[in-house]
Amino acid sequence: MIRDENRKTWNVLAKIVGTDKRLKEEVVILGAHLDRLGVVMYGDIPNGADDNASGAAGVLETARVMKLAGIRPKRAVVFALWGGDETGLWGSEYYVGHPVYPLEKTAAYVNLDMEGHGNGKVLFEGSYFAPELWHSVQSGIPQDVSTYYIPVRGGSGGSDHYPFIIKGVPMSFIYTDGYHFKTNKVGDIPELINPTVLKNAGEAVLHIMKILASDGKKSKVYPDKS
Ligand SMILES: [Zn+2]
Repeated sequence: MIRDENRKTWNVLAKIVGTDKRLKEEVVILGAHLDRLGVVMYGDIPNGADDNASGAAGVLETARVMKLAGIRPKRAVVFALWGGDETGLWGSEYYVGHPVYPLEKTAAYVNLDMEGHGNGKVLFEGSYFAPELWHSVQSGIPQDVSTYYIPVRGGSGGSDHYPFIIKGVPMSFIYTDGYHFKTNKVGDIPELINPTVLKNAGEAVLHIMKILASDGKKSKVYPDKS
């Protein structure tokens, strides 16, 4: 991978303000990477519908639905689209080094990366490193969503949640279970996105953000578990 320090990329942020007198100083962030690899060897273009237009769409749709439904979260909810993920998490790394909202006031970071392929189950990675986050979500998630939404230990790396957990921000990486058969390949096109899978992920994420934005408790990170 060639890294060109002179090339520019962008992070895009938006916010729904918090309403609770005390908790509105805190934020929860929902993020996904917006970039893809561009043109790779032999002129191929691994289009990126699953990785990660699906995650970026999940961020946008969650913002749209929360606004439309008039949800008034206790904490502020920040929606983030990161640049430069594929060449080394540059956008999210930059953010945690230059946070717009203080990291010590960031109650949780939720990452979406690859939400469009698989078997319809939605994985919640982070239940091991930030178990209180999982318990908060588990206690508030509707019964019908909890049937396809499952915690996994996972690793702490792999996408834009990694810079956050390194800085001690409780995080979850949410992605869909099963075979992502077009990851980094030509032909990762919108027509191959499974609508049911994407819908399951979207519904789970909406509930998760509603819970985390208004849960009075604040989770911790247990780095010794890495
Ligand atoms: Zn990705």
